[in-house]
Amino acid sequence: MTNLRELLHFYDEAGVDTPLEDAPVDRFSQIEAKRVVAPAAHASRPSQQQRPERAAASQPAPPILSKASVPDDAKVAMARQLASSAATLEELREQLAAFDGCNLKFTAKNLVFADGNPTASIMFVGEAPGREEDLEGVPFIGRSGQLLDRMFAAIGLDRTGVYIANTIPWRPPGNRTPTPLETEICRPFFERQIELANPKLLVALGGPAAKALTNATEGILRLRGNWKTHMTASGIQIPVMPTLHPAYLLRNPAQKRFAWRDFVSVKMRLRALTD
Ligand code: URA
Repeated sequence: MTNLRELLHFYDEAGVDTPLEDAPVDRFSQIEAKRVVAPAAHASRPSQQQRPERAAASQPAPPILSKASVPDDAKVAMARQLASSAATLEELREQLAAFDGCNLKFTAKNLVFADGNPTASIMFVGEAPGREEDLEGVPFIGRSGQLLDRMFAAIGLDRTGVYIANTIPWRPPGNRTPTPLETEICRPFFERQIELANPKLLVALGGPAAKALTNATEGILRLRGNWKTHMTASGIQIPVMPTLHPAYLLRNPAQKRFAWRDFVSVKMRLRALTD
């Protein structure tokens, strides 16, 4: 019993806190079944003796997966269509809540859409919600969110003067990195969210958000501190400051001095815009 408790504690610490099914699924037997009914295209040429067996196998195979699956391109197209039809942030939130095209929705507990003031001049964009955010449905409320609040305070801001969202609005299981496909499926929604919030400045928290907003390919340590541009679908250019993610700063406190420089630059630009 103690061992089981320790094991569960270990999983929890490692971020593995989401059981996906009640019973385990033997994926290996599914793959084996697939191989028998549909030999891989790159399999080596069969010998003369093997051919009759292969001919039998080429009969229509019974479906292995019973669920109809929507092709990835169709999911991205559906996301684009839904996102562009939203005329307000509230409509966008509703569209996202009803959208079934991203698998992350099915393991997350809540949609994490946004926090703060949607009319603010400045919008902060993170990567994806973590455990606490998933439980509450609010971005940046865990340890990294608390650090982010202190960083806001250091430049005279709080959540009433900023708008906060993520590129991915559902927690990836175990806090894993979102896949490129998941990012592409969610892209139309976060791009529309930026367009509707219409901030004057954006701050990208961490490499994935910086890449998603600016299409840059460099790592965040190179990108940070240099103003870039986000182009909305309607052609509006919004300045973006890429900076270090608060979760990274918690692990690497010595890097906080760089984030401080970035925040000072943000403060000056914001002041120039609002004075
Ligand atoms: N990290 C993020 O990128 N976003 C959150 O909302 C929380 C942690």
